[in-house]
Amino acid sequence: MQIHRVQELFKQSPVGQRIAVCGWVRTRRDAKNNFSFLEINDGSCLKNLQVIADGALENYETDVKKLGTGSSVRVEGVVVASQGKEQAIEIKAERVHVYGFSPEDFPLQKKRHGFDYLRTIGHLRPRTNTFGAVTRIRHTLSMAVHDFFRSRGFFYVQTPIITANDCEGAGEMFQVTTLDLDKPPRTPEGKIDYARDFFGRRTSLTVSGQLEGETYAMALGNIYTFGPTFRAENSNTTRHLAEFWMIEPEMAFADLDHNAFIAEEFLKHVIRAVLEQNQDDLHLLDSFVQKGLKESLQNIVAGPFARMTYTEAVEILEKSGQKFEYPAKWGSSLQTEHERYLTEVHLKRPVILTDYPKDFTAFYMRLNDDKKTVRNMDVLVPQIGEIIGGSQREERYDVLLERMQEAGLKPEDYAFYLDLRKYGTAPHAGFGLGFERLVLLCTGMGNIRDVIPFPRTPGHCEF
Ligand code: ATP
Ligand code: MN
Repeated sequence: MQIHRVQELFKQSPVGQRIAVCGWVRTRRDAKNNFSFLEINDGSCLKNLQVIADGALENYETDVKKLGTGSSVRVEGVVVASQGKEQAIEIKAERVHVYGFSPEDFPLQKKRHGFDYLRTIGHLRPRTNTFGAVTRIRHTLSMAVHDFFRSRGFFYVQTPIITANDCEGAGEMFQVTTLDLDKPPRTPEGKIDYARDFFGRRTSLTVSGQLEGETYAMALGNIYTFGPTFRAENSNTTRHLAEFWMIEPEMAFADLDHNAFIAEEFLKHVIRAVLEQNQDDLHLLDSFVQKGLKESLQNIVAGPFARMTYTEAVEILEKSGQKFEYPAKWGSSLQTEHERYLTEVHLKRPVILTDYPKDFTAFYMRLNDDKKTVRNMDVLVPQIGEIIGGSQREERYDVLLERMQEAGLKPEDYAFYLDLRKYGTAPHAGFGLGFERLVLLCTGMGNIRDVIPFPRTPGHCEF
């Protein structure tokens, strides 16, 4: 018999049909007159399917009455209309096959557990309601990312994970090597001889696919990457991971206005997908994790994002009369407290800030005519702060070269990047969005470690 997914059964309500479902027992309640209720979850949706297991089943005493939370079963039976208010249908079991019992020490007994504790059982936490919901929302978002770009004619390009670039010093890099760390080969000067390493040179895990992405944008027009990136930064915050996923579109013949337009459309598209496809999951998270989550997401898609320059934002912060831990002042980077004040208190909606001082921005961002600021943008959202960073890229060979030298980079290390300006250069722009920050926003979860299946942070790498 074909195995049905619980989500399909709730959608179709095939009352009267014989069906089979497989899943894990969440609870078992034994009723007085010799039958039991089983709540089965198969992960396809938040809701459990209720099964009525009658004492007449041949293995009722030997198996059914021993089913504890976490056991795995296959139930065959008839779909009946439910008496209870909770759900429209339930299953009257004709056969209950047990794949695996789950003894009483199963850590997820029916009570709420703290996220800190659940992080210590990363292999079992997907079986909780919250992590099921987060995982399904993460899935919806992933699909919506591809959907958005495909519908606009962007090509999906896979940029490398192992790289020989030091991408603009976006973050500290993890080195990739097969050298024997106890006795690495040395050059005559006593330095480590990377010529004898696996790739014949020094390599690392990528911190961003942007530079490689630009090479494809300068041939295919509009491209995007969606892959893992790695930063060995020792920041123990609730918004930083050492391994995270990044979405990076890059568009030829585009300026910053177009970049900002696409970023706003993109965010609204993927959030709308969650609002439409994950209603039960959102309801759960709204009730138990972040009150008002759904409304705040509806708010983001409902109206236009605010736009202002960095300079205007600093003026607002200075005049706000707010006591910040770090006072805002022109020339220094904005802190999360500033970003949150702007979006949550002052504007009450997302904002796209543009034209930051060049001194703390990357060398590839296009220099403005004032020579003090660059044509970049950060998209800030309530609760999170920065979710997207992007810019119009410097397409002028000489200006780019000068900015590289200012930044202390060796032009010969970026020969390929300069070639893009030498041969048929064109204005172009793009942005990077940290996928887990997006999942945080859409789930209301407070810690980035709880929105990626297997988090990697300083001192932690399980599995
Ligand atoms: P932050 O100031 O928050 O550290 P950043 O300026 O280093 O961010 P970018 O280099 O612009 O970030 O990276 C692009 C996007 O990647 C950011 O907007 C953010 O959404 C995400 N991001 C950056 N670092 C991390 C990290 N360590 N973990 C998860 N997401 C990150
Ligand atoms: Mn950073």
